Amino acid sequence: MNILRPGQDGYAEEVAGFQTAVPSSPAVVVAAESAEDVVAAVRYATAHRLSVAVQATGHGLTAGTDGLLVSTRRMTCVEIDADAKTARVEAGARWEAVLEAAGKHGLAPLSGSSPDVGVVGYTLSGGFGLMARRYGRAADHVRALDVVTADGELRRVEPGSDLFWALCGGRDGFGVVTAIEFGLFPVAGLYGGSLTFDTADVPAALRAWRTWSAAAPDTLTTSLAMIQYPDLPMVPEPLRGRHIAQVRIAYLGEDGDELVAPLRAAAPTLADTLRPMPFTESGSIAAEPRQPHGYHGTNVTVSQLNDAMLDAVLEHAGPGAATPPVLIVDRLGGALARKPETPGVGWDSSAEYVVRALSMVGDDGVAAVRRAHAKLFDALAPWTTGRLLPFVYGEHAPAEVAESVFSATDLRRLQEIKRRLDAGNVFPAPHLAG
Ligand SMILES: Cc1cc2nc3c(=O)[nH]c(=O)nc-3n(C[C@H](O)[C@H](O)[C@H](O)COP(=O)(O)OP(=O)(O)OC[C@H]3O[C@@H](n4cnc5c(N)ncnc54)[C@H](O)[C@@H]3O)c2cc1C
Repeated sequence: MNILRPGQDGYAEEVAGFQTAVPSSPAVVVAAESAEDVVAAVRYATAHRLSVAVQATGHGLTAGTDGLLVSTRRMTCVEIDADAKTARVEAGARWEAVLEAAGKHGLAPLSGSSPDVGVVGYTLSGGFGLMARRYGRAADHVRALDVVTADGELRRVEPGSDLFWALCGGRDGFGVVTAIEFGLFPVAGLYGGSLTFDTADVPAALRAWRTWSAAAPDTLTTSLAMIQYPDLPMVPEPLRGRHIAQVRIAYLGEDGDELVAPLRAAAPTLADTLRPMPFTESGSIAAEPRQPHGYHGTNVTVSQLNDAMLDAVLEHAGPGAATPPVLIVDRLGGALARKPETPGVGWDSSAEYVVRALSMVGDDGVAAVRRAHAKLFDALAPWTTGRLLPFVYGEHAPAEVAESVFSATDLRRLQEIKRRLDAGNVFPAPHLAG
């Protein structure tokens, strides 16, 4: 077991992740290479009365730790069973590796917008991906998990067990997953990319996308992003200095050009990247940044997207807004509205859209970002149904998040499982105290 302590070579690199706005100073870092290392790490932590946190890529950090950090980044094995259409993936693997390995067999995973994100953290968070309206959440297609629990035992859990249910969508507070097995889908390619609209056309694009996405077939998963690009030389044209609306599209059909015709007709586009592409290139649709940075964000699910809501979105996040966040509205529904065979936790199937806000954390700190986001989400409150765990970025009040992510019944069940399996709170999860 490779142990690193503060000040030792490699410690800072091991703690550093994609999210840089959540400081963390673990007393001990275990650079795990195997499930056996994770078992040893959890036993070491309990023997030394340290709490245990886990990190793969650092994309989803919501809290720092002063206990023991299990770093899974070296556990990157990916195995594909092409006949069974399943993947078995170790805890540190990123989607990029699964996309490549599965793509060789004409198969695709339920991955999301960024191939850099970790498979396990994403899936345990729920996993709302590029084929979500066709196949549902990634968490609802997990076949098995290998997990080290608070007693230091490595267990295999499958649908039907309480621990499996709690992990698939509940993510935090139950153990360290060392490997995950999940279903793949016979998808070799898709029609994907984005349409970018200039500042003056943002309201028209937003309204056109709302109408268009409301009637979307299940084979279409789509979102609309509004982004204010700074007027700096490092920002490429035509985006530099503009506040744009970008419609992102992942469509599993042959008639993509026909499908998007109403959007192309809504306003002139600054950029149009739509094309048939191999699924392995699906990360190019949103082309999200790969450089680590500090960000803070949250989201609400909503039951509809009416004119008053669009006005609020434009006022607080559109061109001219005082402190506009990166705003993303995703169309939900489709398979997400249907009950899966083995449902995990943390999903309200009545939601029609999710509205997400994300801001860089600047010199003003997180408080200024929170205030700006609150104005937007307060305006959407009459139609808000809940919140999605994966799109909660940075530090938030744990109880507030839990009560909006989970139903009261599910939260009570999670708390009961937590009491039973981790009474000593080896895996801190303040929202599960109770
Ligand atoms: C650029 C970007 C794009 C994204 N796109 C999408 C998207 O399209 N759809 C979507 O649903 N989400 C998306 N997310 C959210 C992402 O799924 C979550 O932030 C997820 O938690 C990241 O997991 P990670 O392992 O990469 O990050 P990490 O920060 O390493 O892990 C996040 C958390 O996951 C838990 N975790 C990680 N590994 C383990 C393990 N082995 N055992 C137990 N718990 C573990 C821990 O609580 C950890 O704090 C995106 C995030 C970013 C930053």
